[in-house]
Amino acid sequence: MLYKAGIGYDIHRLVDGRKLFLGGVEIPYVKGLLGHSDGDALIHALCDALLGALALGDIGEHFPDTNPKYQGIASSRLLKMVKELLDKSGYKINNLDTIIIAQEPKLGPFKQQMKENICALLGVEQDVVNIKAKTNEGLDALGQKEAIACFVTVSLIREE
Ligand code: MG
Repeated sequence: MLYKAGIGYDIHRLVDGRKLFLGGVEIPYVKGLLGHSDGDALIHALCDALLGALALGDIGEHFPDTNPKYQGIASSRLLKMVKELLDKSGYKINNLDTIIIAQEPKLGPFKQQMKENICALLGVEQDVVNIKAKTNEGLDALGQKEAIACFVTVSLIREE
């Protein structure tokens, strides 16, 4: 067996007048994540983890925010494009782990929905995807509800 591993990180500012998307799920909240796309920091970190494992650079190289084509795009569409690169490589997802750091809103009730959505986008079973959510204990910008940050690790596997 051949293995690869990747890490992804993303942070977006919380602002008024935007919808909040995480893992492709719209979450009811008074603010949303600022971004050129829909601001889905979890999917962006996931794209970067996959691109990292494949040694294919980062999300900014593939989908530059200077390109109007990606203005307001659903991040799930970006993930679909990264999934095509994964499929081309012959590797499959062995497992994928995530951390979402959000002081608000409470994400517990949405974790299963995020998991199902990510599994559907990537065409994998639920036992390889894990969603973790935590607060920042009120500390720093994350704890002051100014932003939401996400970490993702992924391991890939391929038959020799
Ligand atoms: Mg981003």
